[in-house]
Formats: sequence, C-alpha cells, structure tokens
Amino acid sequence: MLELPELELYRALLAERCAGLRITAFTIKNKALKHLKSRLQELVDTSIWFVERRYRLIVFHLDNGKRLTFAFNELGYPYFCAAEEAKGIKGDLIISFGDKNLYLTGVESESIGVLSVKQLEEGLKGQALDPLDKRFTPAKWNESLSKKRGYVKSALTDAKLLPGIGPLYSDEIAFAARISPNTKVSDLSGEQREALYKAIGSTIRQSISSGGVKGQRLFPGDELSGGFGEQLQVYGREGEACRRCGSEIARITVAGRKAYCCPQCQTGN
Ligand SMILES: [Zn+2]
Repeated sequence: MLELPELELYRALLAERCAGLRITAFTIKNKALKHLKSRLQELVDTSIWFVERRYRLIVFHLDNGKRLTFAFNELGYPYFCAAEEAKGIKGDLIISFGDKNLYLTGVESESIGVLSVKQLEEGLKGQALDPLDKRFTPAKWNESLSKKRGYVKSALTDAKLLPGIGPLYSDEIAFAARISPNTKVSDLSGEQREALYKAIGSTIRQSISSGGVKGQRLFPGDELSGGFGEQLQVYGREGEACRRCGSEIARITVAGRKAYCCPQCQTGN
C-alpha cells in the first residue's frame, strides 16, 4: 500500500498544479476504466476548485458542486506536464487542461467516482483520524492507544489507529521513538507513548519534505521524489550499520510481521 507521506506528496502536487484549471478532456488508456467514459465526459468544462486527500482518496472539488475521487494502488502515481513534454509518458487515465496534462498511473477502477458531497461523506463515515489532522492530538493518541492490545508494531500498522502507516513508516517511527517494535503496548510508559506520538509527526513530515520513498518523477525536472529513501534508518537495512550507534540493524518477526530495528538504540530508554 502507499503510505501517508507519499499520498500527501501526491495530493500536494495535484493541489499545486491542478487547482484553478478547467478540464478539457479525459482520455482513458486502460481498458478496465472504459466503463467510466460517459460519467467522466460529463465533467468536461468543469473547473477544479480545490484538491484534498481523505485518507487514500484524492478528492477534486469541482465547480459544479460534485467531487471527483480516485485512489492509487501501490505502484500508482500522478505525473503532470505540458502536453509537448509528455513523450514516453503513459498513464491509465489522462486528464487534460488545455495544453497541460495530468497522467494518472495505477488508479484503482473502483475508487473513481463522481459524487455529491453527501455521498462522499457517507462513504467515509467511521474513518479513523488522519495522523496529519489537527485533531490528532497527544490526548487522542493516548486514548486510542489505551484501547489497543498487542505489540507496538501491530499498533503502528493498525489502520483504525493510524490510517496510512504501513510496514515501512511503522519501523521508522519506532526507531525515531527509540522503542522496539516488539514492545507490548500495555508496557509502554507515558513518556514512551509521547515519544511515539512525536515520532509519528516528525517521521511523516521529514519524509514529505524529503520527497518520500517512491522514486518516480511527478513532473519534468522533479529532483525531490524518492529522497527519503536514502534517509531510512532501519527499514530494509538488515545487517547494515545503524546510523546512530553503528550496531547491526536486525530483522525480527513481531506477531507474524517482519520488522526492522536497531537492538541497541531501541530499548525504550
Ligand atoms: Zn543503533
């Protein structure tokens, strides 16, 4: 799955490039999306007012009051450029804005919708609080964590607790908090809970400002994307030296999931 920093980078690109533009055409390149043709066609000549992200869903607010939604699969990403720069660029769905194009690769067919505000909100009911939401406070975090059993690794990858955090960022967050992923949640001290809360925010923000871990360029001349991949502290680094203490990074199994950690740094002290 795409994790939150990458989703947020895609949202930011779309907001920066597409807000204010008028849609002039949809071109469907993937057969699996052909059935959407007439529904999308109705949106030609509408303008995008605003772009938001609701967990995995990208939502275009259109000037006709409707919401155009879509989500990317794990390999999906957007690419924005002038039509003349598009040589060799593919995509499942292309949204044109006059002489500029947005190429959407890896869009999940079932996620594409043209919805009213009410339909959108109903579909998202009961969704957990996004870790980047202002309402995700230390108190909220403590409250949700206190209902959780099992290990830190399981808690950090629980979509009901932290939507958008998966295998990679859960390990990086645990490292930043200096807590082992196989610590039991019930054994965490107040300080450790707070350290995890801070690590969630700092890890996500650091990744976003460094371009996330996915290397695909999102526009011509994009030099930022994928930059966080070189800063990973533990994920995928089994046997390599810890950047903090020099010990070997270990790969362990926690409740059936693999987790990377530094046995020396992540003792919870
Ligand atoms: Zn270390």
